[in-house]
Amino acid sequence: MLKLSKPLIVGVAPVGKDSVFAARVIAAHISGYMNLKTEIIPTLNIPSFAYNEKRFQYNAGVILKSYEAMEFEYDKVIAVLNVDIFMPIFTHVFGEAKQGGKCGLVSVFRLKMEQDCIYPAPSLVYERAAKVALHELGHLFNLLHCEDHRCLMHFSGDLCQLDKTPFYFCRYCTAFLQGFYHFKS
Ligand SMILES: [Zn+2]
Ligand SMILES: [Zn+2]
Repeated sequence: MLKLSKPLIVGVAPVGKDSVFAARVIAAHISGYMNLKTEIIPTLNIPSFAYNEKRFQYNAGVILKSYEAMEFEYDKVIAVLNVDIFMPIFTHVFGEAKQGGKCGLVSVFRLKMEQDCIYPAPSLVYERAAKVALHELGHLFNLLHCEDHRCLMHFSGDLCQLDKTPFYFCRYCTAFLQGFYHFKS
């Protein structure tokens, strides 16, 4: 596989005004951990077309489909939401992206929920959001889920697992990304 020579640019799109700060934190983590250029895209509207009135949640598949159809001038796009998103087979998801797709979603909604009557500090919420973003970006670069519990591509079904996952791609996933672009300089 030929490595792309021009630097890849990831657009980070806040969805709704209250996602702007999370988008900035996520963009900083993407450039720091994945050696990619990032740009903050002007804020998108909350996708009311994807709202499911029976579940009081937004359908992540519907949102992704509409974002994939928008012609963003970026190699990849991560949209950052502050609403509850779901996929039909799950009660909720932290993020969503199709393998090899152009756009991925991250929602901070469930990342800031209380556990054992304690609300997480904002720094922990942003750390979680950044992990979800790196994971979804991995999917956009064609990575599948990884069996290594210490790898960002390991599937995290709950906050406990997400908090245990370090900011680290295993050797296999690193080599895979390296085949796509200059993941590590
Ligand atoms: Zn995944
Ligand atoms: Zn891995």
